[in-house]
Amino acid sequence: MSATMSVRFWGVRGSIPCPGPGTVRYGGNTSCVEVQCGSRRLVFDAGSGLRMLGNAIAEDEGIADVDLFLSHCHIDHLIGLPFFTPAFAKGSHLHIWASNVKSAGGIKDAVRKLMSFPLFPIEVSAIGGKVEFTDFDAGQVLKPRDGIVVRTAPLNHPGGATGFRVEFGGHAVAYITDTELSSDIIDPALLALAKDASLVIIDTTYTDEELPEHVGWGHSSWQQAVRLAREANVRKLCLFHHDPEHDDDEMDRIAKAAAKALPGTIVAREGLFIEF
Ligand SMILES: [Zn+2]
Ligand SMILES: [Zn+2]
Repeated sequence: MSATMSVRFWGVRGSIPCPGPGTVRYGGNTSCVEVQCGSRRLVFDAGSGLRMLGNAIAEDEGIADVDLFLSHCHIDHLIGLPFFTPAFAKGSHLHIWASNVKSAGGIKDAVRKLMSFPLFPIEVSAIGGKVEFTDFDAGQVLKPRDGIVVRTAPLNHPGGATGFRVEFGGHAVAYITDTELSSDIIDPALLALAKDASLVIIDTTYTDEELPEHVGWGHSSWQQAVRLAREANVRKLCLFHHDPEHDDDEMDRIAKAAAKALPGTIVAREGLFIEF
């Protein structure tokens, strides 16, 4: 298996899809990030961006063989799942991993609820491929395949969420959303996820100026993320889970300010591809 690791962004927004003339450059789909480890495909979150990844897989390969990790089950991170068409093809294999939902009956039950009357016309049983569900506890170390290690940590978000660090072939990519960072103390568990990582993709819904209005909402500012990245010696910081109210011009302003504060920092946009 080749040791190349790559990341492709299919959805970069938080809260709700926001297509329109003001978001064409950065994109309007909600969270979905593909992380390729050699020939293995991992996907982080099933936001509305997952539909386009599904279309790409259906076109190229027909069937899917995917490990899908959910940060949590808020609807902006799950809404794309019923539209992931390759899962409906016989021969597909979809393994869904989630934490924080055991007390609500587990991830299988959460997906069953989403895909049932009166919320959705097609039930989970219509999925033609094999679907596996795994509930885990944030903090556990997961090994979805030989040579791939996924470390996890609990995040500060209403109802809970999970942050991930994928290690493969000498590289590490962290996916940390949704979370409200502290401006004073850096959580040691988050520091460990981000430590020396090749890339850290992180919830930066707000700016520092917007934070006071949103205390307790479970999201962070890009300035807080920059502090974490400095502390953790991150090689590349990637701002993610953009506020739907931030149009392309505002995202340009944030990108410029963040790159000035921490050179090399980038802003996630749909279609962005990074290879290590
Ligand atoms: Zn979200
Ligand atoms: Zn959320």
